[in-house]
Amino acid sequence: MEAISKRFFMFLSHNKALDKMAKRWGSKFGANNLVGGETFLQAIPLITQLNEEGFQVTVDHLGEFVDSTEVVRENVQGCIQSISAIAYHGLNTEISVKLTSLGLDISQDLVMENMELILSKANESGITVTLDMEDSSRCHAILDVYKKLRQKYDNVGTVIQSYLYVSDKDVDDLNQFSPYLRLVKGAYNESGKVAFQEKKKVDENLKHLIKKQLLNGHYTAIASHDEAIIDYTIGLVKEHNIPNDRFEFQMLYGMRNQLQSELLKKGYTVRIYLPYGEDWFGYFMRRLAERPANIAFALKGIFSK
Ligand SMILES: Cc1cc2nc3c(=O)[nH]c(=O)nc-3n(C[C@H](O)[C@H](O)[C@H](O)COP(=O)(O)OP(=O)(O)OC[C@H]3O[C@@H](n4cnc5c(N)ncnc54)[C@H](O)[C@@H]3O)c2cc1C
Repeated sequence: MEAISKRFFMFLSHNKALDKMAKRWGSKFGANNLVGGETFLQAIPLITQLNEEGFQVTVDHLGEFVDSTEVVRENVQGCIQSISAIAYHGLNTEISVKLTSLGLDISQDLVMENMELILSKANESGITVTLDMEDSSRCHAILDVYKKLRQKYDNVGTVIQSYLYVSDKDVDDLNQFSPYLRLVKGAYNESGKVAFQEKKKVDENLKHLIKKQLLNGHYTAIASHDEAIIDYTIGLVKEHNIPNDRFEFQMLYGMRNQLQSELLKKGYTVRIYLPYGEDWFGYFMRRLAERPANIAFALKGIFSK
């Protein structure tokens, strides 16, 4: 049953007609429990509140798989404006970007040009930019962009997904770049040709990658709501005397609020991933696919209107 609902929501996440309708309806259907607003300006009060509570934030302008150069240009301008606003308001916030929203599917040159603009602007204010990882067909294109940018910029990170068989080798290949990596299980519907299909194997590989990246001595973000993964990390850092400023926990906005606060109280860095923008449909459907219990958010959103 769970596998069927997962496939169903992943299928919906790519449905362009529903996506269009969702944009017209704005943040109904409970999406406002998971996203910070339709514009960066709308998200500022929430970011400020999270910062005041002690959380760090990473903002993500929603939108992906863009094949129009005009939309790409708007997305780049949107990122640059968010960076200026972060600096102006003194927010404790990084940004996350999806390269398919910045021209990856159009050309490598375009995406590199756009990332140069974004990173040089972010660099002026010491803001880190993380390249989110997307579906497996784009994984190595994203890592190639990351490697090129990393040779020039310190303020860039990327993501490794433990469900992919190739991730262990990717972490080894990235080691020479002293990478800032966010380690996740992976959110896309991938086949057995490229990805582990059993949760146990995905979890084991995530633990393996966390250990490898931390013992390689590189800053590591452990992005998971899974207490077993978090407990494993805490045990590992204690065993190897890894100081708290070498890693952080990351969780999605609206997920496991109590666990977020508990980790913060224990003195760990906790970063909240806060998406914003009109293009919330694909993101929202992936969250429903991961955890059908999130449907409760949707129902709450609809009936509270
Ligand atoms: C900050 C952040 C950034 C991410 N970036 C990317 C990215 O760039 N690319 C990508 O592919 N994926 C990304 N992801 C998504 C990630 O790959 C997973 O799909 C997602 O985090 C679900 O996996 P999980 O590790 O949280 O635990 P799961 O395996 O989904 O859940 C494990 C257990 O955790 C508990 N749990 C999980 N969620 C909840 C909840 N809401 N309430 C109560 N209990 C819960 C349950 O006990 C569950 O059985 C990101 C995730 C985070 C947190």
